[in-house]
Amino acid sequence: MGTKGKAIVGVDVAKLLDMLNKAYADEWLAYYQYWVGAKVASGRMRGIVAGELEEHANEELEHAQKLVERMITLGGTPLLTPEALLKESGCGYDAPTDPCTKTLLKQNIKGEQCAIATYSKLLDFVKDKDPITYHLVLEILEDEVKHEEDLESLLADMA
Ligand code: FE
Ligand code: FE
Ligand code: MG
Repeated sequence: MGTKGKAIVGVDVAKLLDMLNKAYADEWLAYYQYWVGAKVASGRMRGIVAGELEEHANEELEHAQKLVERMITLGGTPLLTPEALLKESGCGYDAPTDPCTKTLLKQNIKGEQCAIATYSKLLDFVKDKDPITYHLVLEILEDEVKHEEDLESLLADMA
């Protein structure tokens, strides 16, 4: 990346790239978990739940996009294989083997809570040291907080 652009990053770039790649892996797995979950969803409020899962899938893909752009700018390389995504992911993948809408919501709430924890840590890491990454991570974190709230509301509607 640009010389001055790099000079203003006040954290260990290799460590930052590592954290960004882990979050990137989480986003791809979250994307697929939501996307395929929306396809197989069945049971109560199926239409509404599937619609929400599909919307979140698209937003997770946007997060992956934002992360990859920042990694490239920082001189990094995104994980290049599905195996690497699985291996490096911090939040992992929870297969929607039970298509019941209530189970899917619970699984994805767990995923969002992991994402919120991950991005809070990243935010702490770059705070006052790398304003560009800070801004980007804050935007993603705002989405994840909204995602958790959306799913918890749907789950509450089922009670
Ligand atoms: Fe996300
Ligand atoms: Fe999310
Ligand atoms: Mg939503």
